[in-house]
Amino acid sequence: MFYDYDCPNCGRIEVSHSIKDNLEECPNCKSKDIKIVVTGGQGFLLKGSGWAKDGYSK
Ligand SMILES: [Zn+2]
Repeated sequence: MFYDYDCPNCGRIEVSHSIKDNLEECPNCKSKDIKIVVTGGQGFLLKGSGWAKDGYSK
């Protein structure tokens, strides 16, 4: 399963790992500041603003 993460250094990255694993650092730059971005249609997409900081890395 693929997950998108937002890294303050690398921007949007896509990481493949098991659903029970939680990435705690960026595989590229080892930043601990990454945040998972929930995508795809699993009924789990958080709508609205405030959670997935729009325009943060752009
Ligand atoms: Zn990074």
